[in-house]
Amino acid sequence: MGKVLGEVKKDYGKLKLYINGEFIDSKTDTIGKAYNPAKDEIIAEVPFSAKDEVEEAIQSAQEAFEKWREVPITTRIQYLFALKNRLEEYSETIARIIVQNHGKTIQEARGDMRRTIENVEAAISAAYTLYKGEHLDQVSQEVDETVVREPLGVFGIITPFNFPTMVPFWFLPYAIVLGNTVVVKPSEITPVPMDFIIRIFDEIKLPRGVVNVVHGAKDVVDEFLTNKLVQGVTFVGSTRVGKYIYENAGKNGKKAIVQAGAKNFVVVMPDADLNKAIPSIVSAFFGNAGQRCLAAANLVAVGNIYDEVKRKFIEASKQLKIGYGLDESVDMGPVVTKDAKKRIIGYIEKGIEEGAKLLLDGRDVKVPEYPNGYFLGPTVFDEVTPEMVIAKEEIFGPVASIIHVKNLDEAINIINRSNYGNASSIFTTSGYYARKFRREVNTGNIGINIGVAAPMAFFPFGGRKESFFGILHGQIDSVDFFTDKKVVITRW
Ligand code: NAD
Repeated sequence: MGKVLGEVKKDYGKLKLYINGEFIDSKTDTIGKAYNPAKDEIIAEVPFSAKDEVEEAIQSAQEAFEKWREVPITTRIQYLFALKNRLEEYSETIARIIVQNHGKTIQEARGDMRRTIENVEAAISAAYTLYKGEHLDQVSQEVDETVVREPLGVFGIITPFNFPTMVPFWFLPYAIVLGNTVVVKPSEITPVPMDFIIRIFDEIKLPRGVVNVVHGAKDVVDEFLTNKLVQGVTFVGSTRVGKYIYENAGKNGKKAIVQAGAKNFVVVMPDADLNKAIPSIVSAFFGNAGQRCLAAANLVAVGNIYDEVKRKFIEASKQLKIGYGLDESVDMGPVVTKDAKKRIIGYIEKGIEEGAKLLLDGRDVKVPEYPNGYFLGPTVFDEVTPEMVIAKEEIFGPVASIIHVKNLDEAINIINRSNYGNASSIFTTSGYYARKFRREVNTGNIGINIGVAAPMAFFPFGGRKESFFGILHGQIDSVDFFTDKKVVITRW
């Protein structure tokens, strides 16, 4: 066993709402539960905020907006520096809470925190340069034109379970540094890490109402989508819910960034360097127990490398140590809920029923120290065809499907027929194959000899087809989402 880190707390009690700079006890009767998935233990109660509480949070964000937009940008940036410093200070603590509530490993959670903080840094740098001016003198006789960017007001931030701090921070720092205010609704499954971060907003004395946090699910989202004071929403989650949000945001005249589900492909060419590729591929499939929107799901082996890829992939996958992510030597934690485990097992049974060959079965994995955890081992199917349900639908768990094809054209064709278009990767030593893949494949993020094509904060987060709805993407692209351009034409 490796070094085992301690839990920050056993029980986080009933989470508070954070409205207008106050920690509030919700008066709702609807209480959800947040679990530690490695132990099947309840670690917090989650009050699903009542309608009037969400309205109050939005109202407080609106009142804060009137003042916050007048705060000089240089001062707003200083709040973000303070936020960054506190996040650095608490990073290890928050990473442990992520492990406790989500189940990923401590190394993965530390990675989440790094990306969380990088988004604060990218928001600071964007704010410094965004106002550098878009101005042209003498567009006609004695006429000058200037673009002025203005914040818009209150935004709702709706987040998924799998990155409890990073995903809200794809939007939150950009929104507030540009003068907007927000109401955040964390996932009702993993709300505990954000509950910790609230105290940082309080510690840095961010003006009241600039960031508010409420809990719940559809009812809160519906309030965001219908409340007249809300200018727009950002959503990251499944395609089913994403479509609902995009449609309703449009119907109600609200802006929306919607980043949705995925089914990602990794292509291995006959000339790939497997010594380098295999560790990267294994981590792409089984990192985060397959629960990331950039996780690999289908392994496409091209030509005569198929047997070797299969053998090495299985060998390496069998080595992964499954357990509680607070043990530093663990490679893969549990999946997030009992229901998620049931759903994933359902897909494994479906694969067998469809005639795919189960080469590695993770259903009976045992973790003796944590007998009640929602563990699944790496699972690998071979002889999968692109038409099978297991090759088409998002499983969101540690299940890999191997598809054997003749050439790169066939691989690209299969990827481009998928309903999703989040990410795809190629492993090759040929510049020709790499370039062809980059140009022809219709996904928003592309990895070349990289298994998880995760863009840094200062790049937009891509997505195509049913993986993305809207125009502007998360991370740095959101500076355009959170500002509107006013054009001033002057004769003088
Ligand atoms: P989810 O769609 O179930 O939930 C996302 C959010 O929507 C949560 O806050 C939830 O409370 C809310 N919600 C749930 N049902 C709703 C409804 N009927 N109406 C309105 N709101 C509702 O997603 P999840 O299971 O939390 O997260 C996993 C999904 O997120 C996967 O599909 C994954 O691919 C996707 N994801 C996408 C990206 C990306 O950038 N494209 C990143 C991370 C995760």
